[in-house]
Amino acid sequence: MDRYLVFGHPVRHSKSPFIHTLFARQTQQELEYGLAEPAVDEFAQALCTFFDQGGKGCNVTVPFKEQAFALVDRLSPRAKRAGAVNTIKLTDDGVLLGDNTDGAGLVADLKSHGVTLADSRILLLGAGGAARGALAPLLAELPSELVIANRTHTKAQQLAAEFHDLGPVTAQTYEQLAGPFDLVINSTSASLQGELPPLAPALIHTDIAIYDMMYSASDTAFISWAKQHGASQTMDGLGMLVEQAAEAFTVWRGIRPGTKQVLRELKRNLGVI
Ligand code: NDP
Repeated sequence: MDRYLVFGHPVRHSKSPFIHTLFARQTQQELEYGLAEPAVDEFAQALCTFFDQGGKGCNVTVPFKEQAFALVDRLSPRAKRAGAVNTIKLTDDGVLLGDNTDGAGLVADLKSHGVTLADSRILLLGAGGAARGALAPLLAELPSELVIANRTHTKAQQLAAEFHDLGPVTAQTYEQLAGPFDLVINSTSASLQGELPPLAPALIHTDIAIYDMMYSASDTAFISWAKQHGASQTMDGLGMLVEQAAEAFTVWRGIRPGTKQVLRELKRNLGVI
């Protein structure tokens, strides 16, 4: 049976095996999908061993995405742009192809929630790996402006300069931000510690869409905060997780699984519904 897995550290709580098993069942693909948690300095060896032993493809999550970028034989254009790899496929000619499906997953999830990206004013909080992966797919949707704000301002400036050729992207400090924005995407890891990015409450209004890439069974700190300040449309990153997985599954198997039912099953599994 074709073997796939996700590399991460820690990875025990990953929902990827659950999601890909449902995709495989739905599309009648014969495959198994597991977990691997190598020590941080043993990822390269573990990746080699997996493919030497017949593995067909893998996902890569924190903290291995940059290492994976350096280890693959070939990069997709979107992985090259993102500077990180979250999906690897062993091609028929024996090449390890590195791809990045995170940004496509984000955009697909935003669209499935009915969020309009064209001509909208988007605020992206954070300038780490997830922000980097999101920038090209977001700019491809032709927003009127995309502003990046990050705690370490120089990183936001660097990203804006790097992606400037793709569209109207600028960097501002949190203090400089001036509304109104149509969409705020939180790609910081602040919610992981229950913290908030230092965003002024005045930037939140009733018609704004709020997206937190993090997800949890209850509202993330950022979503709670945005609701308190009047946001009526709030979304967490669970849909992005399922959509980026569907994109990876399509890369591996050449068949696109449906995501709606799988997302519902995942929410049930997490106790969200
Ligand atoms: P990184 O570590 O690469 O980047 C973290 C970013 O968060 C940096 O810009 C950092 O700022 C900022 N940050 C951290 N703490 C705070 C704080 N207290 N206040 C303000 N800013 C802060 O992480 P990733 O980009 O890889 O991941 C970010 C988030 O996205 C995580 O929560 C992750 O779980 C989520 N994610 C979700 C996915 C999904 O499918 N739903 C996929 C990928 C990621 P600074 O530069 O100043 O350090």
